[in-house]
This record gives sequence, C-alpha cells and structure tokens, in this order.
Amino acid sequence: MGNCGSKKAEKTVVEPEEPKPSAVPEEPVEEEPVATEKPSPEAEAEPAPTEEEAEAPVAEAEPEASTNAFSAREDPDPVVPKGLPDVNVWHPQSEMEVQGIVRQARAEGKKVRVVGSGHSVWDAVVPAGFAQTGEGDWLIVFDNMRELAMDGTRVRAQAGSNLGVSPRLPHFEPITTDAALAPSAQNLTRPFSWEESLCYFLDQQGRALPDLGGISHQTVAGFLSTGSSGGTTQYSLLDYVERLRIVDGKGDVHDVGLGDDLFHAAGVGMGLCGILTEVTINTIDRFNIRGTELTASAASHPDVDFFSTGTPGPEGKPRPALRTFFEEDRYTRLMWWPQKGFERLVVWQATAEAPADDFEAYPYVEMKPLDQVGASLLYTLLGNVGQADAIDDYLQVVKKRDPQGSVVKGLRDALAKVDVAEAALRDEMKGALTATDDHKGWLEKLGHDAEKLVGEDWHTQLFERVATVLDDLLAGAINSEALAGLSWLLDKLAPYIIGPVLGKFIPDGVNDINGKPFFADSWYRGLPMDNQIDDLILPTWFTEIWIPYSAEGGELEKTIAVLKEHLRGDGSYSSAYEATGAYCIEIYAARRGDTFWLNPATGDENVLRIDIFWFGRNEADPVATFFPQFWNLLREQGIGYRLHWGKFKPPGQGAGADGLNDLTRPYGDAFRRFEAVREAYDPDGVFLTPYWASHLGI
Ligand SMILES: Cc1cc2nc3c(=O)[nH]c(=O)nc-3n(C[C@H](O)[C@H](O)[C@H](O)COP(=O)(O)OP(=O)(O)OC[C@H]3O[C@@H](n4cnc5c(N)ncnc54)[C@H](O)[C@@H]3O)c2cc1C
Repeated sequence: MGNCGSKKAEKTVVEPEEPKPSAVPEEPVEEEPVATEKPSPEAEAEPAPTEEEAEAPVAEAEPEASTNAFSAREDPDPVVPKGLPDVNVWHPQSEMEVQGIVRQARAEGKKVRVVGSGHSVWDAVVPAGFAQTGEGDWLIVFDNMRELAMDGTRVRAQAGSNLGVSPRLPHFEPITTDAALAPSAQNLTRPFSWEESLCYFLDQQGRALPDLGGISHQTVAGFLSTGSSGGTTQYSLLDYVERLRIVDGKGDVHDVGLGDDLFHAAGVGMGLCGILTEVTINTIDRFNIRGTELTASAASHPDVDFFSTGTPGPEGKPRPALRTFFEEDRYTRLMWWPQKGFERLVVWQATAEAPADDFEAYPYVEMKPLDQVGASLLYTLLGNVGQADAIDDYLQVVKKRDPQGSVVKGLRDALAKVDVAEAALRDEMKGALTATDDHKGWLEKLGHDAEKLVGEDWHTQLFERVATVLDDLLAGAINSEALAGLSWLLDKLAPYIIGPVLGKFIPDGVNDINGKPFFADSWYRGLPMDNQIDDLILPTWFTEIWIPYSAEGGELEKTIAVLKEHLRGDGSYSSAYEATGAYCIEIYAARRGDTFWLNPATGDENVLRIDIFWFGRNEADPVATFFPQFWNLLREQGIGYRLHWGKFKPPGQGAGADGLNDLTRPYGDAFRRFEAVREAYDPDGVFLTPYWASHLGI
C-alpha cells in the first residue's frame, strides 16, 4: 500500500489559531521541484462502465463498522476522537473516528459539515454561522486522512487527498459575500505540496486522471461533491469514479458503487447524503500536454469563430465553429474580456501526447507574479470606491509583495498612455465625472480643482494630477483623503479607460512569457492552468452557468449572441461597463454524464459553461448586484441551464408546488430520487444546513 506521506497532527483536536489582525497574506509557500524520472506507463485502463452498461444492480452494503484497511483499528466500535472539541473543528485520523463524530453530533442535535480545500462558496461548505470556538456546530477537516493506494489501474484515495498542490486555504478571506468586510477568518486546513498530492502519486505510478479543473488545489472529495470538471468534452472524471465509502447521518459506513442509489446520489451530493471517506477512481496512462495561448479580438480570433459569423481568419484560413472547437479531442478554455473598447478573447488550448524520453517541459505562465499584484491593486481601487481604509489595508500587501514599487509605476504608466483622442469619448467621460454635485468635493480630496475641467485639455491636467497622486503613493506620502478621491475618480473613469488598462495586463498575440510561443508540460502540472494565480492576491468568485447544447439546437451560438448583445448595454461606454464590470467571463465545455444524479452535466448533451468572474475583494455583494443580470437574461431568453454547486447561486427560494425550484427543476426526477436517498441516509438532517435547505427547497 502506498502512502503519499501525509503528516499526522499531534492531536486530533486542533487549537484555534489567533485571529489574524488584517487581510495581509502570508508569504507564498515554496513549491519543491518535482522528480523528473518516472516509471514507464502501464496499459491504459478502460473508463468505468456507464450506468446503462453496468450489470445487474449490486445490492447495497449493510451498514457496517469500518473494515477499511486505511483505518483498521483494534477497537471494533466507532470512536469519537479523544475528548470533546474545545473548538468546533475535528481532524479525524480514521473512518471510525468519523463515525464517532457523526453519532455524537446526532445525539447532541448538532450539524456536521466537511471542508475540503475550501474553494466553494463558504456558506455551501460550513454549518450556518459557523464559528471555530464556543458552543456551535462542527466542521471536519480531513488533513489526517490523505492516504493513497493503487489497486491495478485503480487508485483508492482517502477523502482529504488534494488533487494537486494546496497552498494555504481556506483563505484568510473565506469565499463568502461579506468576507470583504470581515477578512479575519483563520486558516482551518494545512498547506500540502505537490509531492503529497493524488496527481503526483499517480504520475509516479505512470498513471493519470483524464481531466482536471483550472486549479487542482481541491480535495478529491470536494471536487466530486460539487460535480467540478475541467475543459474537455472527451472525458469527465466522474465517469472514472467506481466506488465510494460513505459515513451516513446515522454514523453507519457504506461501501457503494454503480447500481447503488447511495452511490448515484452522494457522488455529487454536496456532503448532504453522507461524508465521503474514500474514493476509488480508475486511471489512464500518464500523458503530457502541449498547447498555445493566443489573445486577439473576440470578433476575429484566428483560433475560433467565437461569434459564429462564418467569416475566415487571417489570410482566408477557415476558423472552426465554436461547437467544433469544443468537441474536438483537446483541452480548451476561453477567457472573454467583453469591455467596450477592448473586446478580447484569450484562447488556451492543448492536446495530449504520449510521454517521450526527449520530452522537454516548458510550463505555461499565465501572468507574472507582479502583474497579479498590479491587477489586484487596480481591482481593489475600482471595487472599493471611496473606502480609504480597505484600500489602505491592501496597499500594505502591495508594498510587501513589491517593495520596488513597480506595480504602482506600471499602473501610473498604463493610465498615462490612455488614449482619449476621440472627442465623443472625452465628452462622455466628462459628463460622467460631473454628473453629480459631489464631484467637486471628491476632486478636492484628490487635490484637483473642478474649475479646471474646461477647455480641450481638461483631461491632460487631470491625468497629470492622477500621476502625481500615484507618485505620492509610491513615496508613501499619500493621505486617506487622496486615496479615497483616487478610487472615486478611477471608478468614474473606468468605463473609458478600462480597455487600454486591461491591454497592459493582457497583451495581444501569442503568450510567450515562458520564452517559447507554446507550452508543454506533464498532465497534472499543465491542465490546471490557473494554479499559479494566488487566491489571496486575486481572490475570484464565480457564478457558473451550465447550458446543454446540441448539434441542431443552436444553444451554444444563441447563448454567446445573447450575452454579446447584453454586454453592449445601450452602446455607451458607461452602460456597457455596468454590464461587463472590469473582470472577465470564462467559457469552457464539459462532457455529459448520468452516473451521478446531480451532475450539472446530466442529460444527453455536452454542456457549455459560462463562468462569470467577480473580484473577491470588491465591496459589493455580487449575488445582489452583478450575477442576477446573467441568471435573468438567460432565463428570459429561454436558455435552460444548471448552476455549478460550488459557486454562487441566487438566494434560496424554497420549493414550488411540484417540490422543485429553479435550481432543482432542471434535474427533474433525478432530484426527487436524490432527495429520497438523502432523507433515508440522513433522517435527522445532521448534514443539512439552512443554506442547502433553502437553495434546494427541502
Ligand atoms: C480559483 C477557483 C478555481 C476553480 N476552478 C474550477 C474549475 O476549473 N472547474 C470547476 O468545475 N470548478 C472550479 N472551481 C470550483 C471548485 O472546484 C469547487 O468549489 C470544489 O468543490 C472545491 O473543492 P474543495 O476541495 O475546495 O471542497 P470544498 O469547497 O471545501 O467543499 C465543497 C463541498 O463538498 C463538501 N465536501 C468536502 N469534502 C467532503 C467529504 N469528504 N464528504 C462529503 N462532502 C464533502 C463540502 O461540505 C462542500 O459542500 C474553482 C474554484 C476556485 C475558487
């Protein structure tokens, strides 16, 4: 039996850390280099049979005490880890301890939830009002249950195994809508390195998973529980999941597979049917990937006919239709920056290739680290208008990361280069600046006189003032008044300057930051292309809309057309910016699959995924202010969709007369079957939180 070398905590109950005084992140964890010599691959495994292909359904296992070799103990009875927790966080060492915790919680009328790596919306993970200390509900962290073992081509992974490197999450700022105002949550889980991860372990055995998400920080159980997926229609990791070990709401253990209702309900079950303690996944031969990333106009991108115009690319070369692009045998991801005056598409695509002795890795570099800090500073200023304290807090982070001040200089240069030669643009910009009476006061804070907003050259003087303020910022000689004034001004100017400023971070052409016009890497390092984005520097929240598309239905083309039209606003810069915001939309596709009833890609068709980004340090709540426009737009246009279970959703709405709601209706009877299983295995609602009760209408 292999072991990924997980560390054991000294105690099963971990003392709470002191709350951190501010949102200043810790230094990044150094990543160890990976060994280059790997065993030769074994024969490729067949994917797990589909539900239809499976033989006669297997009877569900009787509830039993744990016989799992990972957690074998002499004591045959489930045990609660020694001593009750003086904090509400458990770190069990075995499945039997998990059973004990659940039974104890049930007896005391408490809720128990599990956190994986904390990359989902926080309220979807923890019990309501979760606090680490004091009388309250419980949270389990599986950082002591991370063992891995090969069984032929299959891997048995304990639930706490991270897919890849897991830097240091949950965040100081857990993913919750009011986190920006209370950024002092403590870290609950420990960081783990590549060498301790499931993917690294598999690679060492010559094996691989066929698909990974854009990050691989997640635990294997957390990834499955929300039906997460990467950017390919050829594979779904869910098709490779063969068995689950589950502790139900009565504290009983079940070992289930295809044909068992509990398997089909709990695989993508958000922790509501039971606690997954172990997952068995079939694997394929290890592979490498090779690909490119190209940024160009969304309308005429050479790699894909994004707006379905049928027009050829440069030199008359045909461009693949969007559907063809997604359906071909490759991994893909599009980043759409729809801001008026920018309108770019970043196309990342890669194909798999067999490992070769002379393979040379040229890892993909998404963004230089300091560019992340620069983008973060810009978004912090734009998202916290007039909030000098929030901005000032963040400036401490910037200074720590960038003592040379090149980030502020970069922002200064980008602003200085903004082209406002167009008179109509200048007029619209001035109108926006002076629209409300308070503009004089704000400009005064910035040290600029509103009387100067006259003549042809009004904007030059204003930008000079901004440059001086940024110079003061660099010199540490800025007061909070001026900082608040700066954020007010940038907010007003944003619709007009966002395009050129984004162009600084997202230049046109082939990404060659790694010194090559392509990237090449191992499957597990290459597929999660966003792993290098720092969750604390660029915290990103999402709502992700999954839309089944067919060859004939035109859903894919219609969705992009509807979004494009909506994001134009009324044609003015300000109304377009209101719709687009300053961030981007990720677009990728996933393979259909019916094994797990609540897989958001269930049904006959592969799905298009529209992943709307929101900067996590913005002051506003995106569920109230930003995401609804997209949910409503698509619904009004008759485009059916499901939402990613781990990302933001509309507020819970209970259920209609049919027992379903907007979130669950797209699953129909599959949801009803799920609910029947959930009730049977968790009759007292030990795992059911108000968040899930209201969102699922149960
Ligand atoms: C920056 C970022 C990038 C992302 N990229 C992608 C992407 O490319 N594709 C995609 O599909 N998603 C993506 N996601 C979403 C992410 O994959 C999901 O939110 C995933 O569920 C997170 O896994 P986790 O280990 O952090 O689990 P958590 O977020 O901690 O938990 C997720 C759910 O699983 C439950 N759970 C966890 N462990 C167990 C267990 N052992 N037993 C029962 N229930 C359990 C939790 O209670 C919770 O309900 C991204 C998220 C972020 C923040």
